[in-house]
Amino acid sequence: MSKVLSHRPRVVLNLHEDDEIESCYAYCSEPLQEIAEKCVAAMRTVLPGNTTSIHHDHAENGVIIGGNIPCKGTLEKELEKYGILYVCMETPEMEKITFRIKALTKGVMTFIKEWQKVGRR
Ligand SMILES: [Zn+2]
Repeated sequence: MSKVLSHRPRVVLNLHEDDEIESCYAYCSEPLQEIAEKCVAAMRTVLPGNTTSIHHDHAENGVIIGGNIPCKGTLEKELEKYGILYVCMETPEMEKITFRIKALTKGVMTFIKEWQKVGRR
């Protein structure tokens, strides 16, 4: 965590894979919900699917707000303590890595575009 803090980030983007889920999804700090939804929508142009229940949490447009994710002990929980915003994008591990990379690339590019809009405020 000290390594992360040394960079003084305003936002942290985490790219994950999930071996229990069949569709792309994200979880994020509440103020970033709209951006996260756009990222997931972009990811789903590569990997279609719509999971509304993820690890017993309800997802709205592929995004979980509140609920059990992030879990205790995760990086995101630590980021919350320091008031650092985050978006965590997840792709299904069962899909080919080439598709997952393509989906995450779309998600990241969308995030950068959207963050530049709000980050300048
Ligand atoms: Zn994860």
